[in-house]
Amino acid sequence: MNLNLVGDLHTHTVASGHGYSTVMEIAQVAKRKKLEVVAITDHSPEMPGGPLPIYFESHGHFPREIAGVKIYFGVEADILDEKGNLALDEKLLKKLDIVIVSFHPQIFPPASREINTQALLRAIENPLVDIIAHPGNPRYPLDYERVVEAAVSRGKVIEINNSSFTITRRGSRENCRLIAQEVKKQGGWVAVSSDAHFCETVGEFKEAQGLLEEVGFPPERVLNSSRDNIEKFLNRKRR
Ligand SMILES: [Zn+2]
Ligand SMILES: [Zn+2]
Repeated sequence: MNLNLVGDLHTHTVASGHGYSTVMEIAQVAKRKKLEVVAITDHSPEMPGGPLPIYFESHGHFPREIAGVKIYFGVEADILDEKGNLALDEKLLKKLDIVIVSFHPQIFPPASREINTQALLRAIENPLVDIIAHPGNPRYPLDYERVVEAAVSRGKVIEINNSSFTITRRGSRENCRLIAQEVKKQGGWVAVSSDAHFCETVGEFKEAQGLLEEVGFPPERVLNSSRDNIEKFLNRKRR
């Protein structure tokens, strides 16, 4: 499989409270690794040590390009409850370039498969949501068929998170394989992301790429395989 990835759409800076690099460092590593696009997606304010809402309100100060690398400013917004409410005001979500959503145990204690699935399905209904992050986390059992069906019908992208295989969320691989197969079967899209919390991890995709190869995932349906795809996708909802 010839999968050349040109963007990394899930990274964290020091603003997340447990990230170890700056926007500048992330951009420099992205450039060195020949990425054209990187998204800064710090955690939402509910996360312990996370940024205050004013961090996202100040989007006008954020550099949209550094050293020729296109930088998107977004959030990894926590799903708060079964109704799929997100941990950032809608008026702020609307101002951001990219919104990825996910579960973290500090905010949404892992629940039954049915409750987790309901919460995620409600979040997927939100038109401001772009990408579903690390759905393969074994701590959050989900009905993959229904989640993928909802994502595909609403034009959302499912993330294959490389850090889930190397750093955190142990036991994700088999779930991610099942999810990738389901997305392939239903004709949806995935994004391969590093979820870097330190700059040198930006653009690290090897394990996730191996998994997509294993399931024979069509490279043309990997969002971050083309800058054009990424731009079209993120512009689709832009006012
Ligand atoms: Zn996360
Ligand atoms: Zn993350």
